Amino acid sequence: MARAKRRWPQFPKTDGRLVLALVAIALLLGGSAWLEENPQHNPWAPLDLRDPHGLATGVKLAALRGDVSACHAVLARSEVEFTALGPIGAGQCRRNDRLIPDNLTFSPSNPQTTCPVAAGLTLWLEQDVQRLAQDILGSPVARIEQLGTYSCRRMYGARNAPWSEHATGNAIDIAAFVLDDGRRISLVDDWNDEGPPGRFLQSVRDAACDSFGTVLSPDYNAAHADHFHLDQGRKPGAGACR
Ligand SMILES: [Zn+2]
Repeated sequence: MARAKRRWPQFPKTDGRLVLALVAIALLLGGSAWLEENPQHNPWAPLDLRDPHGLATGVKLAALRGDVSACHAVLARSEVEFTALGPIGAGQCRRNDRLIPDNLTFSPSNPQTTCPVAAGLTLWLEQDVQRLAQDILGSPVARIEQLGTYSCRRMYGARNAPWSEHATGNAIDIAAFVLDDGRRISLVDDWNDEGPPGRFLQSVRDAACDSFGTVLSPDYNAAHADHFHLDQGRKPGAGACR
């Protein structure tokens, strides 16, 4: 017996176009409502560091490089307190963008950084580091030990190497995390630990790559065995993340 031929519903040509147009309008309306509810994915929404990471965060962070007033506006919008400092230095080590982020707790002191580094630190600490510390170690981070931001030198101090992002304070080196409960998790002691401290350090390194252009850890080379190097010389995701 011959099987009945399966029939697809046939729209008259004009109705078919109407259906397609209605579907397109619904997608556009749904899409714009979705973007409005998810500003972190919306490239046109102003950056707010209190929003979670999204598809558009990296592009917005990259746009802050070299635009001091736009970057200050992002910190202000995100209710990040900071002390802006005047330009200093000359030549390759001239620093036109210099501030102290007052919202962070670093030792021995809060660092002088560029605004994009302060924005990256705020995002990383608030969106990733505190959550990972709580989840993996059961305690929030009380303070971070930093080894410095500014150093007027070329990379690795080599004579013909490109200038380091440290030459303009556009980088920070981080050595350890001190928890609320008093524990100290350091790169030099805990990076190879197979328990929670090592897992925490690897996780915060991975997460930093969403907030910084370049992230170097002990996995990168021996020069970084005791610290994370984070800088904003490139768009997040465009530099090394290792
Ligand atoms: Zn460094």
